[in-house]
Amino acid sequence: MKDYKQLLLANKAWAKQRLELDEEYFETLSKDQQPKFLWIGCSDSRVPAEEITNAQPGEVFVHRNVANLVVHTDINLLSVLQYAVEVLHVKHIIVCGHYGCGGVKAAMGPTDLGIINKWLRNIKEVYDKYNNELTDILDEESRFKRLVELNVAEQVKNLSKTSIVQRSWKNFQLPHIHGWVFDMSTGLIKEVMEIEACSPIDPIFKYDFPTNELVSNSSIY
Ligand SMILES: [Zn+2]
Repeated sequence: MKDYKQLLLANKAWAKQRLELDEEYFETLSKDQQPKFLWIGCSDSRVPAEEITNAQPGEVFVHRNVANLVVHTDINLLSVLQYAVEVLHVKHIIVCGHYGCGGVKAAMGPTDLGIINKWLRNIKEVYDKYNNELTDILDEESRFKRLVELNVAEQVKNLSKTSIVQRSWKNFQLPHIHGWVFDMSTGLIKEVMEIEACSPIDPIFKYDFPTNELVSNSSIY
């Protein structure tokens, strides 16, 4: 059997199982989504957001890319962020990286990988920012792990620098932002960073919004 056919068969079995537990399951699922969480994770196949948090369909709004980056010119990420924050009003944004991340590992090396060089450059900038701390870690595996954590922390900060998040903090006092790292050798998630809604922001990254601004008028990032 072709590999992909297995996925379709598994889908049929899953749908049947759901209906056996609750015959109105898909009727309810089709109506609406009100997820409390936006998950920004790595595309790595070993870090499925819902699976590792035991979440059900409808609970987590998900965006994944290589090495879970929040890049301020990434229209894909910004579109997901804007929808999650302004329409779904998620209470929490979670950036979840993972130890053993191939993207972070590649960014630590000198190999020319083509177009992805430009994406990984964002991680090289994180390395550069924490060069002193990282250079002091002599064990390469430990340095790699620390960069995974620092990368997550920087992406959490990047979210707080967006006008989408800052405007929502002003109007709704949400969302809170969390930085997590998944350890696939134990299956456990480590919390590495948290920025509560309405936390102080470095003045150079802080936006002022007119007090009479309509909540829905937020097309400028
Ligand atoms: Zn990864």
